[in-house]
Amino acid sequence: MSFAVNKNEKIRVTIEDLTHDGAGVAKVEGYPLFIQGTLPGETVDIHVLKTLKKYGFAKLLNIVEPSSSRVTPPCHVFPTCGGCQLQHLSYESQLIQKRKSVRDVMDRIAKLPDVPVHEVKGMDDPWRYRNKSQIPFDTENDRVITGFYKARTHHIVDTDVCLIQTKEADELMTMLKYKLQQLGIETYDEHTHKGMLRHLIVRKARQTGQVMVVLVTRHRKFPQKDAVVELIQQQLPNVTSIMQNVNTANTNVIMGNEMITLYGADVIIDRIGDTEFEISARSFYQINPVQTEVLYQQALDYANLTGNETVVDAYCGIGTISLFLAKQAKEVYGVEIVPQAIEDAKRNAELNNITNTRFEAGPAEEIIPKWYAQGKQFDVLVVDPPRKGCDEKLLETILTYKPKKIVYVSCNPGTLARDLRILEDGGYRTKEVQPVDMFPHSSHVECVAWLELTYVAQQ
Ligand code: SAH
Repeated sequence: MSFAVNKNEKIRVTIEDLTHDGAGVAKVEGYPLFIQGTLPGETVDIHVLKTLKKYGFAKLLNIVEPSSSRVTPPCHVFPTCGGCQLQHLSYESQLIQKRKSVRDVMDRIAKLPDVPVHEVKGMDDPWRYRNKSQIPFDTENDRVITGFYKARTHHIVDTDVCLIQTKEADELMTMLKYKLQQLGIETYDEHTHKGMLRHLIVRKARQTGQVMVVLVTRHRKFPQKDAVVELIQQQLPNVTSIMQNVNTANTNVIMGNEMITLYGADVIIDRIGDTEFEISARSFYQINPVQTEVLYQQALDYANLTGNETVVDAYCGIGTISLFLAKQAKEVYGVEIVPQAIEDAKRNAELNNITNTRFEAGPAEEIIPKWYAQGKQFDVLVVDPPRKGCDEKLLETILTYKPKKIVYVSCNPGTLARDLRILEDGGYRTKEVQPVDMFPHSSHVECVAWLELTYVAQQ
């Protein structure tokens, strides 16, 4: 089969667009080529690596004419590391690009060209925002390396610094990297399933400054633990919790089931707004605390509560949105599939003396119809599903019982657009979409959409 370009060809192209995962797109006689590291408007020389039926991949050789939005990435392992995709694009342009990608799916998938997609709410300081780092270790040529996995591989790109994680995480990973051999602690080897230290996890509660460190080991027996605890305390006196997690399995799941407290408390406490949360080593918690407040405030604004409403928070995790809403609602019902997260949600409600929340563990698509069948009525439904979007059965339930207002929090604009189309066909109108930048320098974008029931569709 012949294409407009051939494998191994070296050609000059103009970049027309950027994909959702941050690759530049050039078209040669209509045939799209994806080229990482390039930006719209740029003229570049490329080397064609692979040609498939409908599109191909090429490697950037040389930038002939750079985009005016191009910046020098401050991180020395970008783009090899794979953690960030857009560091070569100015932050201002990243936000423009993310809005454009949301606009695009609203037009193409949701078929809602008239729905307002607002400017992305970005960060004033878009660095060092991650409150949790999971850092693997390995040994190469007798030297310990640490950093992050190269995109789509399990090969660590060695670094001492990651500009999107906390300084505490940088300090601890570097300190351990240079001390492990001296301490006689071997790094874990995924291929042979030998060695000891698998991962270092560092979590920081932004509002209180408390830091939790988790050392994931292959054995429970950890003879050097006292020495490690002492080193961590010397390095960072604000560490309030040091935990050992035992993961004996031959798996790439990071944590195992057994937790041992080596020092301090087994939780750290953080605040979102004025609500406090206890976070244990394995609880889910939004990773950008600054933007989480922006996101939740947006959901609250769209919910526009007066104090008389009964609200559902579907896919509620540890109840963060539920507790945020509870202060302005009559009652909030949270549902989440992970039972441990529901335990956390209940404890966090107690911790904040919030008494108007009810939490139940199970699939949202089964629990919500059950609540309706019991005769409960809901005024506002908040959903915050994983990347695959709302379950079909949940959408059917919504269209059967028709709550007046829906606030849809989404980490995947594509599935959001798909679900909005279904809800629109069932009688809802999408009023607005507000994108929020939770992950600067990555290609991800979070959205909050506000829907109102406008008419009851004829069956
Ligand atoms: N709203 C929370 C969590 C959102 S992440 C927050 O802001 O922190 C999405 C959550 O949906 C995860 O906690 C996941 O465990 C949960 N989940 C996935 N499938 C589910 C289902 N079918 N029913 C209920 N919860 C589900």
